[in-house]
Amino acid sequence: MTTYSDFRSDTVTRPTEKMRRAMAEAVVGDDVLGDDPTVQKLEALAAETMGKEAALFCPSGTMANSIAVKMWTNALEEVIVEERSHIYNMESTHMTFISGVTPRPVRSVRGAMDPKDVAAAIRKPNVHTPRTSLICIENTHNNWGGAVIPLANFQALRGVADAHGLKVHLDGARIFNASVASGVPVRAFADEVDSIQFCLSKGLSAPVGSMLAGPKERIEFGRRLRKALGGGMRQVGVLAAPGLIALTEMVERLKDDHVRAKRLARGLNGLPGVRIDPETVETDIVIFGFEHPGLSCGALLDRRKHKGILALA
Ligand SMILES: *Cc1c(COP(=O)(O)O)cnc(C)c1O
Repeated sequence: MTTYSDFRSDTVTRPTEKMRRAMAEAVVGDDVLGDDPTVQKLEALAAETMGKEAALFCPSGTMANSIAVKMWTNALEEVIVEERSHIYNMESTHMTFISGVTPRPVRSVRGAMDPKDVAAAIRKPNVHTPRTSLICIENTHNNWGGAVIPLANFQALRGVADAHGLKVHLDGARIFNASVASGVPVRAFADEVDSIQFCLSKGLSAPVGSMLAGPKERIEFGRRLRKALGGGMRQVGVLAAPGLIALTEMVERLKDDHVRAKRLARGLNGLPGVRIDPETVETDIVIFGFEHPGLSCGALLDRRKHKGILALA
């Protein structure tokens, strides 16, 4: 077996030995019937961690985001999204496919949308146009190289939402990275939004799963949506068990990833053809430009692969 240094994503983490043991020993029930105690424990912990009434264990972040959009919107409505956001670019357009709403992209500075731009993107009630009903924020921001969106930006966007009667959903796939990097507790970010999705399966190392947290009544509706989308899972305590370890034992170590990412960025900086400002690497994602007269991006990746180094372009 070839051993690779795999820099493609923080999703290529493997479950720890302790997680594998917890999976083998997990107490399970039938979660579609609502009686898997390990899932119940994980959902209660996720809700408490985020300071929300309830939480729902979902097979993926994409499904959790899909459910969130569906539970806050109706057909003929519109959702304000950041133009490089995952929910807009990387989730196979579930907004139109599942929720029948249109996304309205807004530009940003490193993922933080100007509240004035967001306010300007809110539609005036009109028979011609969709009704704006939801704002989505992403933190950390994946396509902006893991940028941390400051709490002050959350507060400003909350103000805009409240002034116009809109809901706010946080795609917090890496909200723990944002918290560890900024020193702001996850609950402080979560307090400013109506619902939050976060991933257990990235830097927290669980093999599967995302949590959607929010008000009890909406999350119960979300449970029905999850079933309708085919995301009802049976003896799924085997997957909730590593999720519990992810939440209780793996958050602290994210800072090690941040230190390594910074070191990698500093090392890349100044190599021929590489364009990166190491100062912008705040968390665990390193994105750099590459332009070289004698080497295409694809050729660079191929050569690295032969050396046992994997990366994504
Ligand atoms: C990974 C990710 C998701 C969800 O991804 P899944 O692969 O569906 O679990 C959502 N938002 C962001 C920003 C992500 O990076």
